[in-house]
Order: sequence, then structure tokens, then C-alpha cells
Amino acid sequence: MPPVSDYYEVLGVSRDASPEEIKRAYRKLARKLHPDVTDDPDAGERFKEVSQAYETLSNPEKRDLYDRGGTQPGGAGFGAGFGFSDIMDAFFGGGATAGRGPVSRTQRGQDALIRVDVDLAEAAFGGTKEIAVDTAAICPTCKGSCCQPGTEPVTCDICGGRGQVQRVVRSLLGQVMTAQPCPTCRGFGTVLPAPCLECSGEGRVRARRPLTIRIPAGVSTGTRIQLAGQGEVGTAGGPAGDLYVEIAERPHPTFQRRGDDLHCTLEVPMTAAALGTVIPLETLEGDDVDIEVRAGSQSGETVTLRARGTEHLRSTGRGDLHVHLDVVTPRNLDSEQEELLRRLAELRGEVRPAGRLSPSTQGVFSKLRDLFAGR
Ligand SMILES: [Zn+2]
Ligand SMILES: [Zn+2]
Repeated sequence: MPPVSDYYEVLGVSRDASPEEIKRAYRKLARKLHPDVTDDPDAGERFKEVSQAYETLSNPEKRDLYDRGGTQPGGAGFGAGFGFSDIMDAFFGGGATAGRGPVSRTQRGQDALIRVDVDLAEAAFGGTKEIAVDTAAICPTCKGSCCQPGTEPVTCDICGGRGQVQRVVRSLLGQVMTAQPCPTCRGFGTVLPAPCLECSGEGRVRARRPLTIRIPAGVSTGTRIQLAGQGEVGTAGGPAGDLYVEIAERPHPTFQRRGDDLHCTLEVPMTAAALGTVIPLETLEGDDVDIEVRAGSQSGETVTLRARGTEHLRSTGRGDLHVHLDVVTPRNLDSEQEELLRRLAELRGEVRPAGRLSPSTQGVFSKLRDLFAGR
């Protein structure tokens, strides 16, 4: 919205001007400022201002309100929905102030987006990857000229190369000339006497090409990598848009990722958990590390290895690796093993001779009871 000026000044009429005078003043200004008849870059803004002033002063009710210092133009006091843009639409067929002159056939291509699946290790530590990209590529036959060999675009007869045709439209100002894209040359100002057969005169074709991309360390599902100039090639030899590569991480059989931390589960035999042990683990990068399981470890406890997670994408360093212990109770005991365990249980006072749990001696049982009681 341009700054609010005095509507009478805008139209160049006195405050007691008659409706006829206001209409005449508006017609005169509108013809002078109409974007189809002037090259003045400020004309568009002034034209809007003039139209706005006219919209108010030509309506007795609104003029009265305006004279009494009423509502601001465009404010809620004016009949919502009516007017100003309707007038602009009447003029420009949709309100767009069409650019003057022909449109170039040569346009920048659009950006393209492809999804690339990567393994967790590739996402964590980066690397390069061969992919195939389907995009518009420059036409190999005409090299983007859009024409069959030996021919070239010629000036459009219908619009004389201006790319636009004038049309007379009836409006509240009487007859107004408006410019529309030339239907013969579609606004280009030129026509192709013999369009290239391979690309139908567009100068580009669909093509699949190999591309080597670099995956930065620390990317994750949803990360987009922008590759300038690797998107769709433009029409008629226009520059290519950008290519966005969106990362999608494949699940890993051992490691789950949360942020830049990795998590895995390590099964520990009950006896090892009780006695303590060292278990080798292959990390995501393929190193063997020793996981210290201290004597008396419980299911659900974790061992954290600092800086063994994925690399940080936007800073140096790495997340952590959390190893969750899962204590495995032995199954399918043979008689000797069963005897040993029974003996152990007896030594610890954990079973009665009949093999049933003895609540009075069970710390676990009372802890559970506390839990349910909310203590
Ligand atoms: Zn071609
Ligand atoms: Zn034309």
C-alpha cells in the first residue's frame, strides 16, 4: 500500500469537484499513467494511487466518509472485498502488470530434488557416492538452439517481434488498450520455422546421467545437500537450476541412531554378568573395542563409549555409543548345570528346598511392592 496522500490532490481536483470532474480527471490521469502507454517506472505505483483515489471519491458514500476524516483507505471501514483490486483486474486481466516486450526463450531451469539411500556408516562418516540423476539436459541435436540444423528463429509476423498484442477492452474508463501475450509466438517474439525434432523446439530433453556426490559426515534422514547447477537445464540453452539431494538413512542391523549418538544391545550371559567379563564389540567404523561388563551388571544398564557415535554435521567431534546390556538367563540346563544352580541358590538362600520363592528373604519382592505403593 503506498503512503496515504490526499485523494483530491492525487486526482488534481478541488474539494468541491463534481462527480463529472472527478471522472474526467481520473480518465485523463489513467490514460497517461497506464502501464501500456508509458515507460515511466513509477507510473505503476502512481496509477494505483490514482485508481484508489478514484474508487473512493467516485462513490458518494465513501467520499462523504473520507471528507469527514473517516476511515483510512484499505481499512475495515470500507466495504470489505470491493474495489481496488477489482479495478486493477479489469485493467490487467488478473492484476499482473505484464512486462513489456518479448519473453526470452532462454530460461533458467528448475531446481530438482532426489532422494538417496545411504548406509548408517556413510551417513555417520561421509564419503562419495555414485548416483544416477534424471533431469532435463541440453538437447544433443540442436545444442539448445531449439531449431533444426541450418535454421534459426524468425521474427513473429503477428506481433512484429514484440511478443504482445494489443487488445481493446471496455471498462469503466471507456475503451482501454491492454497488452496480452501473442498467441502465435506465445510471447517470444519469434517463431521457429523448423523446430528441432528431438526436443520439439524446447532445446532440452529428459536424460539420465551419472553423478558422483560427496556425502558430508554426520548427515541424517532429511538432510539436503545442495549442488549448484546440477538441476534441470533451462529452456533454449538456459542455465541449470540446482540439485537437492535428500538423504534417507537405511536401518542398521546392530546400531540405532538417536541424534548423533548410537545405541546397541549387547547380550551378556547371566554368569558373565554376575562374575564380570570383557566382551569384544565391533563398532560402526569396524574397530574392535572391549566392553567392560563389571561383576553384578544388570539387564538394562548401559556402558557408554565417548566419541564412538556419528560425526557432528555442523561441528567437530562425535556423539557417543551407548551399549545396553541384556542379561540372558540360561535355558535348557543339563542336569549338572541345574544342580550347580540349585546349589548356588541354596547358598544364597534364594529358594526353598521345594524350589519356590521365599518372599520373606526377597529384596526384589519388597522393592516391587514399594514401587506399586509409589514409595
Ligand atoms: Zn533439440
Ligand atoms: Zn508473436
